[in-house]
Amino acid sequence: MTKRVRPWGYQDSTNAAPANWALHPDTVAVRGGLARTGFGETGEALFLNSGFTYDSAEQAEAAFKEETEHFVYSRFGNPTVATFERRIAAIEGSEAALATSTGMSAMFASVACLVQAGDRIVASASMFSSCYVVLTEILPKWGVQIELVEGNDKKVWAAALSQPTKVVFIETPSNPMMQIVDIRMVSDLAHKVGATVIVDNVLASPVLQKPLELGADVVMYSATKHIDGQGRVLGGVVCGTTDYIHGVLRQFIRHTGPTMGAFEAWVLTKSLETMSMRVERMSASALEVAKFLEGNSKVKGVRYPHLKSHPDYSLAKKQMSAGGSTIAITFKGDKSKVFKFMNALQVIDISNNLGDSKSLMTHPSSTTHRRLTAEVQAQMNITESTVRLSVGLEHPSDLIRDIEQALKAL
Ligand SMILES: *Cc1c(COP(=O)(O)O)cnc(C)c1O
Repeated sequence: MTKRVRPWGYQDSTNAAPANWALHPDTVAVRGGLARTGFGETGEALFLNSGFTYDSAEQAEAAFKEETEHFVYSRFGNPTVATFERRIAAIEGSEAALATSTGMSAMFASVACLVQAGDRIVASASMFSSCYVVLTEILPKWGVQIELVEGNDKKVWAAALSQPTKVVFIETPSNPMMQIVDIRMVSDLAHKVGATVIVDNVLASPVLQKPLELGADVVMYSATKHIDGQGRVLGGVVCGTTDYIHGVLRQFIRHTGPTMGAFEAWVLTKSLETMSMRVERMSASALEVAKFLEGNSKVKGVRYPHLKSHPDYSLAKKQMSAGGSTIAITFKGDKSKVFKFMNALQVIDISNNLGDSKSLMTHPSSTTHRRLTAEVQAQMNITESTVRLSVGLEHPSDLIRDIEQALKAL
């Protein structure tokens, strides 16, 4: 009996794909990281257990010393979580990945594991409000300094990065206003002052933008968004070099405990198999919806990276293979009119998630970004007449029809 070669199959690195066969990311998304048990199951196994046993006290000692590859405790590692980590790392093109319980624990751990009192962080000014709170309120309490940079002007970034900096944190496109930062430009400047560049790549997803290829060091995700993309579980993941992931980050996560659960990892591993199909379809629909909105007389402005009207359109074209699933829309009416429009929607749900198979609309200034002061919201161009639309997998004709009929209420 000949043994079937599964070059992409097993955890054992000696079974990695041959050097002359770089598997397409879509193949990796289905096969990557798979580690079958002796039963030879087709789908990925779910190891819903907290602990692991040893054949001897010596084996336990060796496992704790990390002399052997033996799972110890699911806070440190779990076979199902490890499958998810290997698969997302293979898709991202990173040496390693570490999964966390939520996107925010991924964000917090990715930054916190690198800094101590007196260190300096430079970040793009427009970002998801919880990331903003971590960087401008929580870390400063512990003596970390933060400088925010607005926009994408090289001179402004160079000025901010003219002194020693530990971490550069950028969110591009930003949530919710879809501002774009030049990952290559910022990474080059950051590396000159010794900073580690972390990109919150949630809005683009692993499918549309490859920050590591553009010079960034670390990529983080809320797996809750496009990775699950079906409204089921929370999760987060950080991708980077083996040194960073299995060095400082693993130590930080292992002892502080924001670990991803095995069930979530199992759901998310299966989600990765369909992620590129979903994200490409959602992006194509989002572009159609964004074009429709732009031509409407009740709309003041539409922000979508792959619309020519976007101030950083050419950069967005260069660093993203498609525009993504999220659109920021500012209407001509006031908040009460915008609420009337939202309440009139028949297909699109009012909800604050994004990257979901169901199209969702939120009013950031009263929900996701309400924690930010009026001044900070204004700086981010979030007004009371702005909504964020996450385009899902429904047929775009129904979404456009829904928006068209709801606009009558505006
Ligand atoms: C949602 C989101 C997060 C946080 O992710 P959770 O899974 O909700 O914790 C971080 N960054 C961005 C850009 C997000 O949209």
